[in-house]
Amino acid sequence: MPKPILDVQDLTVHFYTYAGVVKAIEGVSFKIFEGETFALVGETGCGKTVTSRALTRLIESPGRIVRGRVLYYRTESSSPIDLLKIPEEELREIRGKEIAYIFQDPTASLDPLYTNGYQVSEAMYYHRTVSKIKEGIMRAVDLFKKVLVPNPEKNVETFPHELSGGMRQRVVISAAISNNPKIVIADEPTTALDVTVQAQILELLRKLKDEYNSTVILITHNMGVVAEMADRVAVMYAGKIVELGDIFSVFEKPYHPYTRALLRAVPDPLKKIERLESIPGTVPNLINPPPGCRFHPRCPYATDKCKLKEPPVVEIENGHYVACWLYEKLEGKEKTSMQQPVEVQ
Ligand code: SF4
Repeated sequence: MPKPILDVQDLTVHFYTYAGVVKAIEGVSFKIFEGETFALVGETGCGKTVTSRALTRLIESPGRIVRGRVLYYRTESSSPIDLLKIPEEELREIRGKEIAYIFQDPTASLDPLYTNGYQVSEAMYYHRTVSKIKEGIMRAVDLFKKVLVPNPEKNVETFPHELSGGMRQRVVISAAISNNPKIVIADEPTTALDVTVQAQILELLRKLKDEYNSTVILITHNMGVVAEMADRVAVMYAGKIVELGDIFSVFEKPYHPYTRALLRAVPDPLKKIERLESIPGTVPNLINPPPGCRFHPRCPYATDKCKLKEPPVVEIENGHYVACWLYEKLEGKEKTSMQQPVEVQ
């Protein structure tokens, strides 16, 4: 049995707005194993980013972590520490050094007033990986070579606005890996980039993960990216995990109607289709989430029970979990169309 490096239990984050309390994530639980790539996938607004930020308490007001535990196994032998409980100074030593982030928009991640090399060096200087900023800039040259920034000696002296979006993201990746982190949290790292650059960045992340033997938590709405990159995947809907399992199991035998619908929305280049399938409706308002199963207003199989009672999370196969009252009846049904659902007796 592989050892977890992170054990997230019952993580719940609410945002206290003038309009009401937004229940952004409710009772999210999962484990991350050392060396794996774990993907969190779902539509915009499902709570993926809030989950990833809550892992190291990066939730700003009016948000608040209401309950839960994030157990971090710093070394194999030591007992875990709860990242939600330790003092802020201790957490700051872990954040950016042992657990590093790559955010969605590289432009917002970099300070326009400092050179690219300085910003990578600063990440190392803060965590005492280097003793002088100058030494860090020299290391940044090597990191830029690794992430394929052209002219690294020159580009440590340039400013973010002088680089393209793809190059800026490579600078951010350099800063993230500069302290050799155990866990890299990549939050939609390719969303702000064009398609060809997206492929290059994903390839780069894969290579770096192997080289540094890091554990990667990948946040994405793209099932294609999940299929290419992840070992395991958790599908989120309206602030909850509705299905979780290893990539082969979830892609070959998805149980939850939402997972099935997401997979049907991925274009298949080998099939000629008139229209891509979409999921009717929108993600619910999380101030007043639907009772029972939160997916029921959009689910073609919803029964009265679904509308009243929340389905429990059940382990249906080894490591494959689902939260749906009808998972047994839906098993093996080929047709997963949202428009023409199969009959479920
Ligand atoms: Fe659909 Fe009911 Fe399953 Fe929810 S519990 S996904 S509403 S069948």
